[in-house]
Amino acid sequence: MKNITILGATGSIGSSTLSIVEAHPDKFRVFALSANTNWRHMAELCKKYSPRLAVMADESSASKLKDVLDNDTDVLSGDDAICQIASHQQTDYVMAAIVGSAGMSSALSAANAGKRVMLANKESLVLAGNIFIEAIKNSGAELIPVDSEHSAIFQCLQGDLLSTGSDAIDTHDGGSTISKVQLTASGGPFLNTPIDCMGSITPEQACAHPNWSMGRKISVDSATMMNKGLEVIEAHYLFALRSSQIDVVIHPQSIVHSSVYYNDGSTLSQLGVPDMRSAVSYAMSYPNRIFSGVEPVDLTKQKLEFYKPDPNRFPCLGLAFDALNSGASSMGSLNAANEVAVLAFLNNKIKFLDINKVIDQTLGLVASSKLESLEDVVANDKHARQVADEVISSYV
Ligand code: NAD
Ligand code: MG
Repeated sequence: MKNITILGATGSIGSSTLSIVEAHPDKFRVFALSANTNWRHMAELCKKYSPRLAVMADESSASKLKDVLDNDTDVLSGDDAICQIASHQQTDYVMAAIVGSAGMSSALSAANAGKRVMLANKESLVLAGNIFIEAIKNSGAELIPVDSEHSAIFQCLQGDLLSTGSDAIDTHDGGSTISKVQLTASGGPFLNTPIDCMGSITPEQACAHPNWSMGRKISVDSATMMNKGLEVIEAHYLFALRSSQIDVVIHPQSIVHSSVYYNDGSTLSQLGVPDMRSAVSYAMSYPNRIFSGVEPVDLTKQKLEFYKPDPNRFPCLGLAFDALNSGASSMGSLNAANEVAVLAFLNNKIKFLDINKVIDQTLGLVASSKLESLEDVVANDKHARQVADEVISSYV
């Protein structure tokens, strides 16, 4: 029986995780849950799963939650309490599924405490990849990707892990047999929209993803393809790959979740219908597999298509590759500017086509610096956010 902490329990990945727990009451127990402000949803989850601890990031939401609960769940509030449930002695597995940079410190707490870190929050790696990977190595934690593309690559690499007897594959090594990994991208809702019609895209249109059901921020990131850009950086840290070893291909059906190309001409891919319960359940059951409730793919039912991404349609992808090539602080600034720009777009302050411009301008204005500590990472993130805010105020 594994005790699980779910950070971001009221979100899309949080729900998928809870559905796997529900399907396997003999294997998993919900130890702790966290959410931001949605105390009503959290109250339902607490009544259903009776966690030992529930944390609301927001203090007034925590007191409302306390008022409506009459079970043994202890309610806490604030970011420190979220870190506390991520590193708690009694938790075994931590699902890191808070959205954005707000998820970094708790994911890092779980990493430092030697937990199985099931990482959905890709922003943690984009912001502080080196520090995060060091923490995993030093504490003996397990880092299991949840992002579907990285889960796919992780699954394809299992044969290599067995043959090297290692927990990690060093693809920097000249002797590596891997020539590249290829992340698939659906292309989002605007893959075929004429570029000159993209100026009037609304937040609702951007959040209506054709294949995946996700939170609003990642849905906008998918529409701009910044999501794939962040995933390129995520793959760089997770699998120790150079940017030249990471490729992106558009695959509108989202059936092939990603591929690994080997030097002998072989390519391994992982396939499945687009449902995050597959990747979530794999992270929870690794190295085994368990029932996830996801139907198997029927390859006779559809065509599988693949295209090169158009850099004019998806400039954010190029910005992410540039940031990866210029170093850690640029990746942090890219993430900060993107979060600020996406929020401004969701709040109707800027247009869809302004998102990449805000990021590009911000990166031009924030000098790159060495990030040697978590304090440096946080300071760079804060500075880049301020600059992005200033850039946005020049638009309105
Ligand atoms: P979501 O918006 O549905 O849920 C986000 C969760 O984080 C909620 O529980 C919310 O209460 C919590 N949260 C938000 N802001 C917070 C804050 N400031 N402090 C504490 N908690 C906060 O998001 P999601 O789609 O589930 O995505 C979560 C993470 O997983 C993101 O990093 C995303 O990139 C990644 N991811 C999601 C999917 C997907 O299919 N949804 C796929 C791959 C990766
Ligand atoms: Mg993904």
